Amino acid sequence: MKIVKDAEVLQKKLLAHKAKGERIAVVPTMGALHEGHLSLIKKARTEGDIVVVTLFVNPTQFGPNEDLDKYPRTFESDCEGAESCGADYLFAPMVTSVYPEQFDTVVHCGGVTSRLEGASRPGHFDGVTTIVLKLFNMTVADVAVFGQKDAQQVLVIKKMVRDLNVPVNIIVAPTVREESGLAMSSRNRYLTKAEKVEAAALSQGLFRAKDDFDRGENRVSVLRDTLEAYYAKHPLLKIEYIAVTDRECIAIDGDITNGALLSLACRTKDSQTRLIDNVILGDL
Ligand code: AMP
Repeated sequence: MKIVKDAEVLQKKLLAHKAKGERIAVVPTMGALHEGHLSLIKKARTEGDIVVVTLFVNPTQFGPNEDLDKYPRTFESDCEGAESCGADYLFAPMVTSVYPEQFDTVVHCGGVTSRLEGASRPGHFDGVTTIVLKLFNMTVADVAVFGQKDAQQVLVIKKMVRDLNVPVNIIVAPTVREESGLAMSSRNRYLTKAEKVEAAALSQGLFRAKDDFDRGENRVSVLRDTLEAYYAKHPLLKIEYIAVTDRECIAIDGDITNGALLSLACRTKDSQTRLIDNVILGDL
């Protein structure tokens, strides 16, 4: 696996692969790789001839009071993990080379970005779409793999790709979970022991709701009330939102007719760690 830090060098190498007819599959990450990220790299291995993992803690997608400074950085083990899953290139640029002094362009995707995570984290998705489009261009990607864990991010990126005619095929890989059901996340390492135990309830609640839906319960109010009552029994989890939405992340009132995204965000009481998770009900 080659480690590249310079975008121009990377692009030149990848264009040479493309000229030979090879397909470039890209996995954008912020590093601190865990089994969830590794599953995306393995998926990319089946989708492309050349697999590029990008590792960049993108400052523009963090809010002013978020965890940019303390975000985990584990470069050595990230290299090992990416290589063990068959990555050909690991691209790890410096912030100053991604955003040089005169940089002044933002990719803004409307609608879907104003809700849920976008409402909780103003400006977050502008940071995401701008860096993802830059990474697609730097890597001349044919395919890119994203995780269902960040369900709204997937919807936003698919929309950007559609709206801007970006010639990249977006593949979505399932959420990888701890044995307890807790969705793997680089931020799980912030959790206290007690919070980690309690955080397993997040997915258990979502799975119960999915079971209820599969058994015929399609009233949003009932599904939400049941979930709220369930999470109320877990005082270390402060729920920020529970949302039942369509693919534009617009709230569904009344009954779910086809499918819905059931998503939530919470902050843990002691370490103030922000966690998100979701399940798809029916066909979204
Ligand atoms: P991040 O490093 O958090 O920006 O995530 C990079 C990619 O990994 C995104 O596409 C995430 O959706 C995906 N990802 C993060 N956690 C998981 C997980 N537990 N299962 C599957 N994909 C994940």
